[in-house]
Amino acid sequence: MYFEVRLIFLKEMKVTKTSNIGILGSTGSIGRNVLEVINSLNRKGYEIKVKFLTANNNIETLSDQVKLFSPESVYIENPGKAEEFSKKYEFKNLKVLCGQDKLEELIRRDNYDTLLVSVVGFSGLKPTIEAIKSRKKIALANKETLVVAGTLINKLLNEYETVLIPIDSEHSAILQCLTGEDKNTIKRIVLTASGGPFRTKSIEEIGTCTVEDALKHPNWNMGNKITIDSATMMNKGLEVIEAKHLFNIDVSRVHVIIHPQSIIHSFVEFIDGSVKAQLGVPDMKIPIQYALTYPHRIQSDFRRIDFNNLKDLSFEEPDFKKFKCLKLAYEAAEKEGTYPTVLNASNEVAVNLFLNNKITFLEIADIIEEQLEIHTSKENFEIEDIYETDQKIRKNLTEKHR
Ligand code: MN
Repeated sequence: MYFEVRLIFLKEMKVTKTSNIGILGSTGSIGRNVLEVINSLNRKGYEIKVKFLTANNNIETLSDQVKLFSPESVYIENPGKAEEFSKKYEFKNLKVLCGQDKLEELIRRDNYDTLLVSVVGFSGLKPTIEAIKSRKKIALANKETLVVAGTLINKLLNEYETVLIPIDSEHSAILQCLTGEDKNTIKRIVLTASGGPFRTKSIEEIGTCTVEDALKHPNWNMGNKITIDSATMMNKGLEVIEAKHLFNIDVSRVHVIIHPQSIIHSFVEFIDGSVKAQLGVPDMKIPIQYALTYPHRIQSDFRRIDFNNLKDLSFEEPDFKKFKCLKLAYEAAEKEGTYPTVLNASNEVAVNLFLNNKITFLEIADIIEEQLEIHTSKENFEIEDIYETDQKIRKNLTEKHR
């Protein structure tokens, strides 16, 4: 029996080299990699058409992408930038859209089959839900969606009979390790973490770090929010919750280990003592291609591991005192309800405050801890409770730190 990944129904996956895709957040680090992968697949006989792209502000990159991929529409979140884009670039037959209702319309259209969600943060939730309700296949690079609403997303995927494939490198690794396995034979899932820029620093040293120090990630080149999340290790905390929902496994069986080289992207230990791991150079193009071609593997010319020059692969236990955010994420995951929403919202606000020099690095965890302590959650929560909780936390914290 195949491993039953709740969100991924292998038997129902249509094998097709032709697809129409929409990309949310195409100018970000993942979005740019996605377009490179699409280009590379199309050179290998795939026919992936890009139907629409969305961006917040970066209209220069967006216009380059439009030239290369000729989508039917672009959505630009910032109204000023949308206007500037229309004036500056005169693309024939391109619809330039702006405004939340226009985004929802775009998502509900039936001219595409796959939505790639590579926006950052809570803003990924609503469009993902809309797309599932329109029976689109989801390729998900936005972890916050599963963190706050994994249970509800699972229900919707079943109800609307569609699939969700993870792009996050750790979850892609787990999916690859679990393919062909029986779910009942899993002992535990282990997510690897680079440990970020502060792995070897003391709490005292971290306490006085600058925004610049925190943005120096040793292995991955990513956007600011996820880079700070990596420095606090909240990123791994969010990934633990993401794994819980993707693979339908209790968080007590999802472990984290620091692996500074970021070569092993995660592993699964089975009941017989065997361990399966997925390895690769730290390059998001590999998990992106796997998500786009799943359940198949396709030849690629991406960088390879050079085992002769791989000096060592080392592992360390994470220090939960130093990386308090990781501990808080486990606690929120165990409490369930809207606690993960509180964790996520207070983290998003706190990271922003830190990036704007309003709080210190260690205060990020303090703010999240306090919000989790004062929160109470309903046992049976609906999507409205998630939106309400998210709004409440943002409002409270923004007022407090004005
Ligand atoms: Mn990751």
